[in-house]
Amino acid sequence: MSTDSSPSLGAEENGDTPEDELLVNAHGLYDSSWGEDDWRKLATTLVRDGVVSWREITTTVLGELNPPQVGTSIASASGLTFGFKDNHQLAHPGESFMPYVMQWFYARAGRCIDCGTRLDLQADHVQGREFFENKRDADVLDNLELRCRRHNVAKRRSHIERAGRTVLPAQQALMWILLEIRPFTKLDLARLCRIYGMTMAGIRFDEAWAMAVWMQREGQYRIASPEDAYDVVRWLHNGALTRRFANGDAPPMGSELIASDVLGENRVRFVASLGDNKRTLRYYDLAVETLPFAYELGDRDVTDIAIWPIQTGGVPLAPKGLKLRSSIIVGAINDSPTIAFSDGHMLTAPPANGFRGTIIRAGRREVERMRLASSPDELL
Ligand SMILES: [Zn+2]
Repeated sequence: MSTDSSPSLGAEENGDTPEDELLVNAHGLYDSSWGEDDWRKLATTLVRDGVVSWREITTTVLGELNPPQVGTSIASASGLTFGFKDNHQLAHPGESFMPYVMQWFYARAGRCIDCGTRLDLQADHVQGREFFENKRDADVLDNLELRCRRHNVAKRRSHIERAGRTVLPAQQALMWILLEIRPFTKLDLARLCRIYGMTMAGIRFDEAWAMAVWMQREGQYRIASPEDAYDVVRWLHNGALTRRFANGDAPPMGSELIASDVLGENRVRFVASLGDNKRTLRYYDLAVETLPFAYELGDRDVTDIAIWPIQTGGVPLAPKGLKLRSSIIVGAINDSPTIAFSDGHMLTAPPANGFRGTIIRAGRREVERMRLASSPDELL
């Protein structure tokens, strides 16, 4: 039987679906506050840019409007798993089941009982099978309703607390982020997806990124490249570093430029500390091309992008939240810079550890005017 149109089968039998893969407390980005005008604008842009045609948009909607095949799916539901036919025979001995199914079907409103959409409807249990001692007792027409695929999934016991959300299902949100926010790197796409609340494995972002690669090839998308030059921007309120395509403009309000016109392969090296704690310093060495761009994120801070995406939602990308003590931008060469303290003490920076940084024990050193340089000579 088709799992798409069967009573709760798609959700219960197949385990997690893409719609599932959002954090319980996910609140999306500014798409959740969009009105019809915003959606029309996005659709119009996609057509104007040749990403899709009106014909494709309309025929896709027509396909989603096609009512679920509840008659055939219920009638052919496995008698071993589902009790529909047996329960009907008990209630109406000798009578054919299908007329009852169709009578029930026509009596529906033809809309999801949760959100009212006519798209992608499925027959779904009102009281889930998991609430019945004998699951087969749930399989009667009186216990079925029409729900969209998303709310069919959201109704499951493990997801009841998520059902009221207005954010897009993950699969659609991925493309909304890609085509509306238009991240310039795959890493930024992943960061935005984590901000949105997606918990899916990173490979899903890699796959979604293919759309950006394909569109760039046809001049419809901009991906940051090794040939581009960048400005590195530091945001004053939380120390986050972001980059932008070098353009000679003043830095955005509330930020300062710490480097202009540098290549993605350049390294940004910095020492930061936790607030005013001067004893524990951390040293970082990151390629400029790993820094996030800043994007308009609705009511969220543009520096919310400054996270390092991990499965459970991402951790801040230093120096966000840390006090930047000193920083330099150097070439792609893999040398170890020198750190000089104001009392004249110098030490060689420890090997860097990517986004986690490495701890430097400053002890009682005076770090207020600490400096970082490519070689000791620069500090003399
Ligand atoms: Zn719905």
